[in-house]
Amino acid sequence: MLDTLRRIVQEVNGARSLDAALATMVRRIRKAMRTDVCSIYLFDRERDRLVLMDTIGLRTQAVGIVTLRLGEGLVGLVGQREEPLNLEDAPGHPQFRYFAETGEERFSSFLGVPIIHQRRMLGVLVVQQQEKRRFDEGDEAFLVTMAAQLAGVLAHALVSGTLNRPAEPDGQAMFSGVAASPGMAIGEIVVVAPPADLDSVPDLIPTDPDAEVVRLHAALAHVREDIRKAGARLASRISTQELALFDVYQQMLGDAALGNEVEKRIREGQWAPGALADVVRRHTQYLERVDDGYLRERAMDIRDLGRRVLAHLQESNELTPSTYPANTILVGDEISAATLGELPRGRLAALVSIRGSSNSHVAILARAMGIPTVLGMVDLPLPRINGAKAILDGHRGRLFVRPEPQLAKRYERLIKEERALAEVLEHEQHLPSETSDGHRMPLMVNTGLAVDMVAQLKPRVSGVGLYRTEVPFMMNERFPSEQEQTRLYHEQLSSFAPLPVVMRTLDIGGDKDLPYFPINEANPFLGWRGIRVTLDHPEVLMVQMRAMLMASRELDNLRILLPMITSVDEVDTALRLLARAREELAEDGIEVASPKVGVMIEVPATLYQLSALAERVDFFSVGSNDLTQYLLAVDRNNARVASLYDACHPAVLNALARLAEESQRLGVPASVCGELAGDPSGALLLMGMGFEALSMNAPSLPRVRAAIRRVSIGDARSLVAETLSLPTTAVVRAHLRQRMTDWQIGHLLSPQD
Ligand code: PEP
Ligand code: MG
Repeated sequence: MLDTLRRIVQEVNGARSLDAALATMVRRIRKAMRTDVCSIYLFDRERDRLVLMDTIGLRTQAVGIVTLRLGEGLVGLVGQREEPLNLEDAPGHPQFRYFAETGEERFSSFLGVPIIHQRRMLGVLVVQQQEKRRFDEGDEAFLVTMAAQLAGVLAHALVSGTLNRPAEPDGQAMFSGVAASPGMAIGEIVVVAPPADLDSVPDLIPTDPDAEVVRLHAALAHVREDIRKAGARLASRISTQELALFDVYQQMLGDAALGNEVEKRIREGQWAPGALADVVRRHTQYLERVDDGYLRERAMDIRDLGRRVLAHLQESNELTPSTYPANTILVGDEISAATLGELPRGRLAALVSIRGSSNSHVAILARAMGIPTVLGMVDLPLPRINGAKAILDGHRGRLFVRPEPQLAKRYERLIKEERALAEVLEHEQHLPSETSDGHRMPLMVNTGLAVDMVAQLKPRVSGVGLYRTEVPFMMNERFPSEQEQTRLYHEQLSSFAPLPVVMRTLDIGGDKDLPYFPINEANPFLGWRGIRVTLDHPEVLMVQMRAMLMASRELDNLRILLPMITSVDEVDTALRLLARAREELAEDGIEVASPKVGVMIEVPATLYQLSALAERVDFFSVGSNDLTQYLLAVDRNNARVASLYDACHPAVLNALARLAEESQRLGVPASVCGELAGDPSGALLLMGMGFEALSMNAPSLPRVRAAIRRVSIGDARSLVAETLSLPTTAVVRAHLRQRMTDWQIGHLLSPQD
C-alpha cells in the first residue's frame, strides 16, 4: 500500500500541468482502489463552489460544468463538513443530488474525502462503485492518506500556478518563505546557477531552442578542442593505450553521440545546460548500476566531460554586468556570498534563495547591505520564472511573480513611502536615543562584516552590542589563524573605540555552518552548537580568546559574550579558559586588562539560573531569536511554521519582562541583541521592561530611534503593562499597532496586508 501511495504522489508531483496532475490522480487512484469511478472536485473560492475538475468513470462532458455549493449534494456535504463520507447506498441519502450530466444514477456506493491543506479545504476526492459496496476502513484510510498527501502538491499548484493550465497561463503567483532581510523591491527575476555544477542546473524553458542548439554545439566543439590539445600535450608521456582514451572522449563528445541526445532534449523544451545535465544524469545513473568496473569508470568520465561542456555553456551564457537588469531580483537554489559579490552593486534589488536560513552567510550579507531577502522558498518553480517581473516583500517573506497591475501599483506606493521615510529619518540620526521625557536608551549595532559602515555608524551608536565572530569564519576556507583573527578583531575594536564592542565567541552549529567544519546532525538546533562546540575544541576557543585579548591591548573596549549557554558549568569552564589565555599572554610579556564577560540568554534554561549566572558574569545579552525558537519550539528557519514564529508571543514577552526585572534585582545589566530589538514596537516594549541597551542591524536603527524619541518612558511602561496580559500573538501585534498609531508612529512599522 505504502508503495502505491508513494508512486502515485511521485507521479502527480512530476506532472507538467494541473490537468496532467489531476488526470494522473483520478486514473491511478481508481486503479489502486479497483473502483468504477474516481473524481476530483476543486473548490473555487471566488465562485464559492466545488467544481468537477476531472473524472474517470463519470461522463467527461461534465468536467468543468458540474458545480456545487458547499453543503449541496454529497460532495458539497463532504466539503462543508470537512470529513469523509462513506455510503453503501448513496442515492438513498437525503442529501443525494442527481446531475444528469454525470450519469451518476448508475452508482450506488460513494466514498468522498476532503482535500485539506494547512487547514484550508481545497476540494473533494470521490470514488464510486456501481454495485453496492461498503468501502471498508482500509479503503477509507487509503483515500484519506492519499488526499492528505496530494493536498500539498495541489495547494502549491493552485497558489503558484506552477501547474498552470494552458487556458490560464502565467497568472500572478505568490510564494512564501522566511523573511531574512526587510524591505521591498520590484524588479526582474534572474535565476542563477552555480558554475559547472551539473546537480544544481535549474530547469529552464528555452526562449529560442535553435539558439540553444547552436550554443550546445559550440560548447561541444570547444571541449573537443581542449581534449585534443590535452591529448597532444600528453602524447609523449603516456602509453598508446591510455592515449586511446582521448579518442573515446572525442567520440563521446561527438555531435552524433552526446550532441544528438542533448539536442533532442532541448527540442523537448529544456535549455541547453538543463538538457545536458539531464542526459549526463541518465547515462551516469545507468552506468553506475552496472556491475563492471570499466563501465563505472566511464560514468565518471561522462560526468567530467559533462561538467566541462557545462562550463563552456555557462561562459557563453554568463551575465555580464551590463546584462543584469537594473532591478535584478536574484533567485537561486543556493545563492553564495561569492555570487552576490559578482553582481554590479547598483543592479541588485532583492534576493531569493530556495535554500539557506536567516543566519546563513548570504542572509547576513544581505542584511548588512540592506537588500530585501527571502529564503527557504522551497516551492519556487525556477524553470518558469526566469525573466519574469516580480515583487519581493522582505518584511513578510513573500515573492509575487507576474504581479497584477493593481498589486504592483500598491507596492510602488509602499516602496516610495518607505524611501521617503528613510530620507526623513536620516535627518535625526545624529540626535540622542532618548524618550520625550529624557530617558536614555542606548542603541548599539550588530556587526560581523567588513561592509558594515563603521565611519557612518560610530557617531550614531553606543557601541557594538554583538559582533558575530562566526561571520568572518564563514568567509574563510579554514579556521583563521590567531594572527588573522587578531588583525580582524583589532580592526573592529579600534574602529569603534572608545565605545564598547561585545565580541561573541564562535557560535557555529544550528544553521551556521562553516564550509570546512561541517556538522551533520538530525536536529542541529538542539545539537552541537555555540559554546558546546568550542568547549569541546578548546584549541579553537583558546586561539580565539587570545586573539581577542591581543587585539584589545591598549584599547580596553572589549567585552566577551558566550553563546548558547545552558548550564553554569559551561560558564565556569569558559572563564577558566579565558583566564588561561590571559596567563599565556602574560607569560609572553603581554599584559591585557581582564575584559567584562557576559552570557547570551537564549536557551530557556538560563532564565531559571540567573542568580547563579549573575555571580559569574558581568552582563546578560538576550538572544531573542533563539529564545523565541526554543520557548515556542518553532524552527526559526522553517517556512511552514513561519507564522508561528514571533517574539511577540505572550510567553516570550512575559519571559523577557521577568528577566529584565530579575536582572535589575541582581544588579546585572541586561540588553537585547535579537531581532526584536530592531522592531520599533518591540524596542518600545523592551525599553518599558527595563532593558539597558538594544542592539540591532544597522538598517533598523533609524526607525527604532525615531520610535523612542516620540514616546515617554511612562508610555512605554504602560504599553508593557497592557500587553503582558494579552492572550495571543495576534492580539499583541494588533495592540502594539494600535498604540503606535495612537502615538502617530504607526508608519514606522512595516506595512501590513
Ligand atoms: C539570537 O539568537 O537572538 C542572536 C542574537 O543570535 P543569533 O541570531 O546569531 O543566533
Ligand atoms: Mg542565537
